[in-house]
Amino acid sequence: MTSASTGLIDRYGRRAVDLRVSLTDRCNLRCSYCMPPEGLPWLPKQEILTDDEVLRLITVAVTRLGVEEVRFTGGEPLLRPGIVGIVAGSAALTPRPKLSVTTNGIGLARLAVPLRDAGLDRVNVSLDTIDPERFAAIALRRRFDDVIDGLSAAAAAGLTPVKLNAVLLRGINDDEAPALLRFALAHGYELRFIEQMPLDAQHGWSRDQMITAAEILAALEAEFDLSPDPAERAGAPAETWLVNGGPAKVGVIGSVTRPFCGDCDRTRLTADGQVRNCLFATGETDLRGLLRGGADDEEIAARWRTAMWGKLPGHGIDDPSFLQPVRPMSAIGG
Ligand code: SAM
Repeated sequence: MTSASTGLIDRYGRRAVDLRVSLTDRCNLRCSYCMPPEGLPWLPKQEILTDDEVLRLITVAVTRLGVEEVRFTGGEPLLRPGIVGIVAGSAALTPRPKLSVTTNGIGLARLAVPLRDAGLDRVNVSLDTIDPERFAAIALRRRFDDVIDGLSAAAAAGLTPVKLNAVLLRGINDDEAPALLRFALAHGYELRFIEQMPLDAQHGWSRDQMITAAEILAALEAEFDLSPDPAERAGAPAETWLVNGGPAKVGVIGSVTRPFCGDCDRTRLTADGQVRNCLFATGETDLRGLLRGGADDEEIAARWRTAMWGKLPGHGIDDPSFLQPVRPMSAIGG
């Protein structure tokens, strides 16, 4: 088999059907494990894909490359003025992809209904603490109430299941795993913990400081009965457990200590039109230049296939030669 086959396959037999599209590298929070307090040198406007360009690339991915699901992310995707139109354009495609957004939730009180009406199916909202003071200490902004309001708005709009993403940081919120799960259960949200990854702009990550999946599970098991979820994982990054016999679930995304690269089905597009075949890739493939140079859809599709064909078997965090990507998480699209 070669990279000329139809879908986004790689030489290890994986097929990418889940596209993460970053709509901006900017964010209205400054979570310590992601971005420095002063922010970052943002991408120049002329380098960022226009709404039409984003839609063109999503169209190529869905209609020519077998992408089945599109997740909008960033930066903070709700800061992108054109997000409702981009969602509507994506929802109009045949076959219609599943559409979701990963957000800090701050804009959802305003945007949940317009996004649902445009065709959005679901939201993932990041929430690392249920303590407003801790929230301000981690994110350097007093926006806790806005996130909580956003969550309620998403649930009321039917953007369900509403999933919560939490990152635990040693000495800061690592005592909150059970409280976060209680909060999620009380509101009908599905909680997933994400192991902290070496993707911060400040390069402050260290393996011995990160809270591991095993630690998270031990903390939860002190209060809840967890049993393995019988549902098939099917490429999903989170390993899930039934809570107290179910149907409620909790997930752990153990990217560092329990990597799932062998089942990875993701391809990523940055806000400036670069394909990344892995969150941790050190190289990228430029689609913006091709697009702006007048390439047709099949030329773009061919370059995207070639980019994915070269995907490495694993992220290599445990390899002594591991190099953190130059682009931080906020500019890749988490
Ligand atoms: N602004 C949106 C949000 O808050 O969800 C989308 C982008 S954000 C980069 C996506 C997710 O990545 C968030 O859940 C965030 O907590 C997580 N994240 C950021 N940096 C991380 C890191 N170094 N390790 C693990 N997760 C990280």
